[in-house]
Amino acid sequence: MDHVTGCRCVRCGAHYHAYPNTTTCLCGGMLDVEYDYDYVRSHMTRTALEARPHDMWRYRELLPIEPDTPAPPLRVGWTPLYRADELASRLGLKSLYVKDDGLNPTASLKDRASAMAVAKASEAGASVIACSSTGNAASSLAGNAAAAGFETYIFVPSRAPQGKVAQLMIFGAHVISVEGTYEDTFALSAQAIEKYGWYNRNAAINPYLAEGKKTVSLEIAEQMGWRVPDYVAVSVGDGCTIAGVWKGFRDLYETGYINRLPRLISVQAQGCCPLNRSLHTGEPWTPMEENTLADSIAVGVPRNADKALQAVRASNGIAVEVSDQEILEAMALLGRTQGVFGEPAGVAATAGVKKAVEQGLIERDATVVTIVTGNGLKDVQSGIRAAGAPMSVTPDMDSLLAAFDKAGLHP
Ligand SMILES: *Cc1c(COP(=O)(O)O)cnc(C)c1O
Ligand SMILES: [Zn+2]
Repeated sequence: MDHVTGCRCVRCGAHYHAYPNTTTCLCGGMLDVEYDYDYVRSHMTRTALEARPHDMWRYRELLPIEPDTPAPPLRVGWTPLYRADELASRLGLKSLYVKDDGLNPTASLKDRASAMAVAKASEAGASVIACSSTGNAASSLAGNAAAAGFETYIFVPSRAPQGKVAQLMIFGAHVISVEGTYEDTFALSAQAIEKYGWYNRNAAINPYLAEGKKTVSLEIAEQMGWRVPDYVAVSVGDGCTIAGVWKGFRDLYETGYINRLPRLISVQAQGCCPLNRSLHTGEPWTPMEENTLADSIAVGVPRNADKALQAVRASNGIAVEVSDQEILEAMALLGRTQGVFGEPAGVAATAGVKKAVEQGLIERDATVVTIVTGNGLKDVQSGIRAAGAPMSVTPDMDSLLAAFDKAGLHP
């Protein structure tokens, strides 16, 4: 890889060669992939970009793969960035954009990381990929791996919503449902991966996955004509996503594609916010219970704390916690104003933007991007909780009119 200079530990600064199966530093710190930005500048020109397909692989020079590694088969990335004027006015903001990453092939932002895992596993010559996940990393790995002909072993906590488990089964993964927390699930997967030597798609171990995730930022910047929003709101569990989001903007800044950086809004659930708590107090993070309906961000022991905290702090970012009720309200609001259906963790960032405006943490004339990280069809129970049940009628007009009356509708 001419364009990758290596991997650096975010904790101790040690430098490593970027092998396909490189994982964490000997000190236990996460690694960050480093690029030859001169190479990137001269090869990933605007003219070159214009001619490329609209998926995450259009930014190849900023991705840690060999030039001849084929892009995995599923089409990942280039999800829509909607200008959400109605939602903006409801939240009291001048300019709000919604990046709907629930429209990826397995319906979450995790596809960006899983597609990268598949590309790196093929470079490593592996035939089996494994991971543990709160749900979406699992279903995205299962789908992306199935399309590329890999076998998968996947560990999920037993609380994972049915929609995500259904995806796993449909994509033909070997699924291990662990009766325990995400923490327990992660630990078991780590032991099994060690024992069997599978390719490791655990996001907070594998340094390449955040590089896949960062393509969401590369797209946001390109879709905005290389103008940079003032704020980007991200829901946070392990912290890999927000770290990836920051890396994407930093890469663009280093290559001269953009001339300033956004501030990050780190949104966590009130019932599980170990990283935000650390951001508020300045103390090291400590574990918390996983007490929220937003299963994808119910992470009591965040696996990528160093990178996530560094990212939010470096961006002069903001930390906001939202209640389950506020998450459900954001779910309905996004649906009604924008036609976007997000899962609870998927809309948590939007709930956080609403709260940040109310609390005066962000200026009303700011330009804000909120990332919807997962699709609501994965968890329809929460959708019904957020939006209620339909009118129920017998098949006659009297019953219909009575129902309209009751609902206060005058069609
Ligand atoms: C995984 C996930 C997140 C959070 O990403 P982390 O890397 O765990 O911080 C947010 N939303 C959804 C829908 C997810 O699947
Ligand atoms: Zn180190």
